[in-house]
Amino acid sequence: MKENYEMHIEVRPSSIHGNGIFTNIFIPEGKEIMIINGEVIDEQECVRREDNNNVYIFWNGNTYIDSSKTEKIKYINHKCDFNCEVIDRDEYSLMLVSYRDINAGEELTIDYGYEEIYEACCCSLCA
Ligand SMILES: [Zn+2]
Repeated sequence: MKENYEMHIEVRPSSIHGNGIFTNIFIPEGKEIMIINGEVIDEQECVRREDNNNVYIFWNGNTYIDSSKTEKIKYINHKCDFNCEVIDRDEYSLMLVSYRDINAGEELTIDYGYEEIYEACCCSLCA
């Protein structure tokens, strides 16, 4: 049976920024953790929302996914030494996958992958 990792993910205060998402169980490398979905919007709408400080938007090829109404994935933080990655799924969603083994209690992180994030980043790789 396929493990349901999403039910073991919880939102907690993060030392990186604000809230983050943490796993309560060990997740081996290469496992599907949770679907990333939300409202599908175009680039123009994405720019408009980002100008209004919506920081919960994922790029999905020709469209964007606004995850601001989700309970968990919206809180995933950036880390240059990330432990998760986002992979393609379909027009309406993406998939969060473990990039390496992740221990119980660790915060899940991804590389946001845009220039400004590295300038603001305080991690050991950037410092
Ligand atoms: Zn960094």
